[in-house]
Amino acid sequence: MKAKIAVLAGDGIGIEVTAAAVQVLEKVASKYNHEFSFEEGLIGGIAIDTTGTALPDETIAMCEGTQAILLGAVGGYKWDNPSAKVRPEQGLLKIRKHFDLFANLRPVKTYPALAGFTPLRPDLLEGVDMLFIRELTGGIYFGDRGEQGDGDHAFDTENYSVAEVQRVAQVAFTAAQGRRKKVTSVDKANVLATYRLWRKTVTALHDDYADVQLDHILVDAMTMYLMTRPASFDVIVASNMFGDILTDEASVLAGSLGMLPSASINGSSMGLYEPCHGSAPDIAGQGKANPIGSILSAAMLLRYSLNLSYEAEVVERAVDSALDAGARTADIAPRGAGFVSTTELTQTIIDAL
Ligand code: NAD
Repeated sequence: MKAKIAVLAGDGIGIEVTAAAVQVLEKVASKYNHEFSFEEGLIGGIAIDTTGTALPDETIAMCEGTQAILLGAVGGYKWDNPSAKVRPEQGLLKIRKHFDLFANLRPVKTYPALAGFTPLRPDLLEGVDMLFIRELTGGIYFGDRGEQGDGDHAFDTENYSVAEVQRVAQVAFTAAQGRRKKVTSVDKANVLATYRLWRKTVTALHDDYADVQLDHILVDAMTMYLMTRPASFDVIVASNMFGDILTDEASVLAGSLGMLPSASINGSSMGLYEPCHGSAPDIAGQGKANPIGSILSAAMLLRYSLNLSYEAEVVERAVDSALDAGARTADIAPRGAGFVSTTELTQTIIDAL
């Protein structure tokens, strides 16, 4: 097949890990007779320095002509000023909103080879394989906010409509049908009106998915269960803010933030694919970045935007096999053991393909 893919490498290690993912996609294209072309665009700090805005119109226009977007990460010390008017993360919020990428998919699984890298007992990690679906374009991150009085009061507003909850819950139920048929919906229905609407809407929609088991868990309890019984979860659906927090918590189960991919989708085949980590300015430009989160994001791109599930699985297995062979970047190398660089790990994965 022919596909045009937008590449927005962004800042810091975004540049290194995105290059790794593109190399893997090029290898997939040559091995399975596909024609992938890549178009590069600016986002984040580099876009601010070059154009004065975190997501220039040219980047949006370029992405519109593609089937999927591969993104690195944005931000860095240079732009770390929360009160600046123009900030790198504005580019992320804008691109998600522009393409109405309302569902963020984050798979979290444990790798037996990396069991020693998590703070949890190995027996708790056995069989962990969950898929978070985080609502991405609504809720408190997009609600009314401001300061009142002399700046001694501030407010943020959580706000969800039935339609917004329905569409993200639909993604969760559908995903569960292709997995272990369990959805856990996270809310705070005991205190907040938004989450009473959330729970009522998810419960009503469940009637259409009789083959899927549905549980509701309050967010505070969920933070404990993720650590005490992570293997019991299949698909987890949560609001923008709760999903943001819980996915970072769950990331420790995989051994390193550098391992985790994500996909943001909008119900059509267009999607944005990026590792869960940030631009890691502390290790940027040193060849230390783990490229696996980005490479597994490319696998999700193959699956969700290009409908190439077989190729996606081949990439995922190549990652498993590189890890089994002991190829590790510093973040996942045993203490005192040697480690390989970003490009060396990428090459091992490509060889395994
Ligand atoms: P971070 O994810 O960049 O880094 C956290 C820690 O994990 C660092 O010690 C880093 O070295 C390590 N790490 C992250 N990814 C790694 C990888 N692939 N391989 C090896 N180690 C890895 O989070 P942070 O330090 O809180 O943020 C740094 C910058 O990134 C900030 O400017 C922040 O705003 C931005 N950020 C961007 C995104 C995004 O673009 N989606 C997400 C989170 C943070």
